[in-house]
Amino acid sequence: MRENDWKIEEECVRLASMPEALLTWYRASARELPWREDPSPYKVWISEIMLQQTRIEAVKEYFLRFMQELPDLMSLAGAEEERVLKLWEGLGYYSRARNLHKAAQICKEQYEGQLPEDMEKLLALPGIGAYTAGAIGSIAYHIPVPAVDGNVLRIFTRILADDSDIRKESFRKKIQRLLTDLMPREDPGTFNQALMELGERICIPGGAPSCEECPVAGLCLGRMEGNPSRYPSKIQKKARREEKLTILLMCCHGKYRIRRRPGRGLLAGLYELPSLPGHRSREEMTEWLEESQAPEVRLSELGPARHIFSHVEWDMKGWKIELSEEWGTDGFFASPEEIRERYPLPTAFAAYRRLIEE
Ligand code: SF4
Repeated sequence: MRENDWKIEEECVRLASMPEALLTWYRASARELPWREDPSPYKVWISEIMLQQTRIEAVKEYFLRFMQELPDLMSLAGAEEERVLKLWEGLGYYSRARNLHKAAQICKEQYEGQLPEDMEKLLALPGIGAYTAGAIGSIAYHIPVPAVDGNVLRIFTRILADDSDIRKESFRKKIQRLLTDLMPREDPGTFNQALMELGERICIPGGAPSCEECPVAGLCLGRMEGNPSRYPSKIQKKARREEKLTILLMCCHGKYRIRRRPGRGLLAGLYELPSLPGHRSREEMTEWLEESQAPEVRLSELGPARHIFSHVEWDMKGWKIELSEEWGTDGFFASPEEIRERYPLPTAFAAYRRLIEE
């Protein structure tokens, strides 16, 4: 075990057979994925943004739906933002969808409706970081540039038996330089995809990389040490903050009250079901409704639900409030169809959203 004290030139020599081994394995066993058929810059871009933090199997359906409705960059640039968010519903991280939309509009205005074939210009677009630019550049435009994400960093902590904290920029840059030297010039995109596939199927996170199936096992120092899954080093994560909420499913003559969240912060600008802080008992709800001078209502308890975001966890309890007339101080009443088609309610509300009766 070591921490970043290996030399790029020496490792390049030691790992010289890695590209060929990896490519041979990948050509024989790559999965068929919708974005791999005809990997246009637009398809690579959309799929890579969708794949951030989401499993491949889950992304397939979203990708096909998105492509059916917005098949190219110009259609994305011309779409209403709300429509793009609706197509993104369920994938979470809605700022990514907003950035896609903004970037498409920039490409329409500045690059004749194409993603630029230039790393600096790609990196200047909203929502495109080094990894995504590397994926688009190498897969769609054959530019020899690595695409380094958490999967690639994990693989290399194992291959190099390196104890570094993979969140450190210095480690990422070093791997980026190593890969730039190592990658085959004639097919950088396939090399990057092979590494991605290795990280998703073989050198997986957690305790059980499938070393016996790994095409680069003979080069892996972590495996030779006998315990590759000790890499990457475990870094103490900050505990998530828990927030208790009472979700209000307010309905009146078949419509449901929704409101828009503030433009900044968690789930910025998206629609939501109204809520109150803390968990409210029946007595507290009745008191609150009386104090707020709600019209005649019927109150029924809904089950609990949880939703985990990266830094906060919602511990929710729900109440259905059936109103005799429309009432409330913020938001508006919308039909189930409008909620389904027009106003994206984030997955965080899924447990209550599914109780909305069509
Ligand atoms: S041998 Fe095992 S730990 Fe090393 S790269 Fe392959 S799967 Fe990962």
